[in-house]
Amino acid sequence: MTDLLPHHLRSLQAEVADLRASSRRGRYAPSPTGRLHLGNLRTALLSWLITRLQGGEWLLRIDDLDTPRNRPGAEASIQEDLRWLGLLWDGPVLRQSERRGLYATVLSALRRSGQLYPCRCSRRMLADVSAPHGRSGVYPGFCRSLAPRWGLEDERLPSWRLRLEPGRLRWQEELGPEGCLDGPQEVGDVVLRRADGFLAYHLATAVDEWALGIADVVRGLDLWPATGPQVAVLERLGLEPPRYWHLPLWMDGQGQRLSKRDGGQGLADWQAEGLGPNAVIGRLAASLDLVPEGAELSAQELLQQCQLEPLRQRLIQPRAES
Ligand code: GLU
Repeated sequence: MTDLLPHHLRSLQAEVADLRASSRRGRYAPSPTGRLHLGNLRTALLSWLITRLQGGEWLLRIDDLDTPRNRPGAEASIQEDLRWLGLLWDGPVLRQSERRGLYATVLSALRRSGQLYPCRCSRRMLADVSAPHGRSGVYPGFCRSLAPRWGLEDERLPSWRLRLEPGRLRWQEELGPEGCLDGPQEVGDVVLRRADGFLAYHLATAVDEWALGIADVVRGLDLWPATGPQVAVLERLGLEPPRYWHLPLWMDGQGQRLSKRDGGQGLADWQAEGLGPNAVIGRLAASLDLVPEGAELSAQELLQQCQLEPLRQRLIQPRAES
């Protein structure tokens, strides 16, 4: 199916395959919606560690396409916190907002080859019709077989959805059983361009993992369900998905996930207690029993103490216990 890709992107394929084979590239890809909380920082540390243990380059990609959710100063604070912890990335900071041309090219290639259809269903309408115990978020396919209507209607453009073929989507999951979701039943036709004109996160992320030659995607377990739509896009383009590591999430004292947008528990609190970078790295690593409580060490020292396979085993444990 790679012939779907425009010629200049098809030629990138060999380069990407070489890159993936020669360097196990990783990335950290925060959205600039607020200051990183401790869970985000631990994910960043593990993504850096897993990549560096394999001798790979580690990229920093800012997922800033959804501009209304971006917060002023968030990107600067993300960079500052990573640097302060000694988590240094390779190359320039990448921003999805500066890569829109690439995503738009892939979107139009998919559209031209009939893989997408316009959808007029609003979020509210879909919420109203979804059965109380139905799988939320799986599009029921109302517009799938209608004759396409492209233009403005009631001052709204359609969104564009990828038509999922029957079958299962699979991916290699390093911290749990192989990822496997039924395309139409559990993922549903994925929006790749939103009705408000924004290119969707799933499109941009799937294209980026491929175009940047990312071998290992290390991110929070909350993004496990996002993997189905992203693998669906890659598969449709005939492209190999990366390996995924979905990490346990950091919970607060009440068992709730931390949220960047709520400004939950960031580095500032620990810095105010007088903790330096080594103490913070120690606390982040101790929270997963990688080092004893109270250890103080730099990210580099932690890297020297770790080995990939025992680390992988250790990261599988917390989920088995919960
Ligand atoms: N940018 C998204 C986030 O911050 C997704 C990150 C990812 O795919 O790793 O939640």
